[in-house]
Amino acid sequence: MTLELSHFIGGQHIAGKSGQFADVFTPMTGEISARVPLAGQAELNAAVENAKAAQPAWAALNPQKRGRVMMEFLRLIQRDYTALAELLASEHGKTVLDARGDIQRGLEVVEFTCGIAHLLKGEYTDGAGPGIDIYSMRQPLGVVAGITPFNFPAMIPMWKLAPAIACGNAFILKPSERTPSVPLRLAELMLEAGLPAGILNVVHGNKDVVDAIIDHPDIKAIGFVGSTTIAEYIYSRGCSAGKRVQCFGGAKNHMVIMPDADLDQVTDALVGAGYGSAGERCMAISVAVPIGEKTADALLERLVPRVESLRIGLSNDNDADFGPLISREAVNRVRDYVDIGVKEGATLRVDGRGFTMQGYEKGFYMGGTLFDHVTPKMRIYREEIFGPVLSIARAANYEQALHMTNEHEYGNGVAIFTRDGDAARDFVSKVQVGMVGVNVPIPVPLAYYTFGGWKRSAFGDLNQHGPDAIRFYTKTKTVTSRWPSGIKDGASFVIPTMN
Ligand code: NAD
Repeated sequence: MTLELSHFIGGQHIAGKSGQFADVFTPMTGEISARVPLAGQAELNAAVENAKAAQPAWAALNPQKRGRVMMEFLRLIQRDYTALAELLASEHGKTVLDARGDIQRGLEVVEFTCGIAHLLKGEYTDGAGPGIDIYSMRQPLGVVAGITPFNFPAMIPMWKLAPAIACGNAFILKPSERTPSVPLRLAELMLEAGLPAGILNVVHGNKDVVDAIIDHPDIKAIGFVGSTTIAEYIYSRGCSAGKRVQCFGGAKNHMVIMPDADLDQVTDALVGAGYGSAGERCMAISVAVPIGEKTADALLERLVPRVESLRIGLSNDNDADFGPLISREAVNRVRDYVDIGVKEGATLRVDGRGFTMQGYEKGFYMGGTLFDHVTPKMRIYREEIFGPVLSIARAANYEQALHMTNEHEYGNGVAIFTRDGDAARDFVSKVQVGMVGVNVPIPVPLAYYTFGGWKRSAFGDLNQHGPDAIRFYTKTKTVTSRWPSGIKDGASFVIPTMN
């Protein structure tokens, strides 16, 4: 019997009612592990009703007490860390060690929200005019929703739900239907941590329920993370439905390698950032841009043997560099891109298309792949491949590398490797990308900064986590208050000024 997952609504597991299901796989074996119900309007309505009913009392609770629920949640995750990481790895395919990092980077945002009482403090001006004080306060929006991708099943749900809930909102999480189990577990743990039922609901599904979320009049904000096409769709439809929307999309992250860079360090950084998690990270490096033929040749000399000897393994193999991809379709899509690259004239230096895992031939594996002489006109340069494929796009000089990076339609992350502070400083200042690493290959900002790309990697004006998350999940109310005796003076028909 295949395990049948449920929705989590009003603090209870609720079986799917739409009659629609999707298979959930164990990528390392290729077997079906469960089926997940795909919600329709009825399940979403039930979640919204529960959320609406529970939210006012939650918002009225002192922020300090809401923060304490987050603290207890942190403790419970620590208690269950190993089981969660194993569940995550088995459903996603990334290694258990990498899954621990996925959980950790989510937990750090939960840690940030433990200080919600401080984060929600408003502004105050005493005596803005005679007898007049002005102050602002942040109030929750009500019911808000998060739609998350398959590739970080713990981190991204926590990036969304923790700030939203700490601010006093009720939250509806629509996780990826490909990795639904860890998000469900997070909701159970939040309940155990003391969160009232109805404040965090998990509704599984695909486009149908996403459209229902966009159209639901009681959902005030949507935070989305996923591919750019869907990000743009949800952003434009959500905004025209009058919602507050932030959508984070795809990426093509470049690493610029200056001639003075330490190439051994660069090679380590590139194999980790290019192939870790099988390249299924929005901050993966997918294009390396060495400056000058000499740098490129020396880099290739080091890189080729490293890519050839990458250790692909089962998700529970602690010695594996990376595990399987998420699905058979993903493997086929990535292999197709390799075919396209060859046809476009790029030089295929390492070909991972033929890789199979002995004893696990049905698993979704793909070997590390390396292209050289990739140019900006090629599809493999322009499009996000989202697999273990690294492209070397040689540049003649620094200006050309900067130009290539800035002309690319995506602008999520970028890195420069150099020993020259002046070059690094110039790059940081001029590059049109949201997150920049200087000798750091995956510059994911820590929880107390914000995360977000530029150009077609993000739609909306506030980033994820950090102070922006508090702004996104609250609305500002500004109060001008006077307690004078002058009220007896009578009405004034001139716009008030503070002269
Ligand atoms: P995806 O766009 O396929 O799915 C994301 C979410 O949208 C899922 O919950 C899915 O159910 C839903 N969805 C899928 N098709 C839909 C449709 N037609 N209409 C409405 N909703 C739909 O993305 P994915 O494959 O799960 O994740 C990988 C993508 O996410 C990559 O492009 C990656 O770069 C991106 N990503 C971006 C960031 C970031 O912060 N910028 C972080 C992680 C992943």
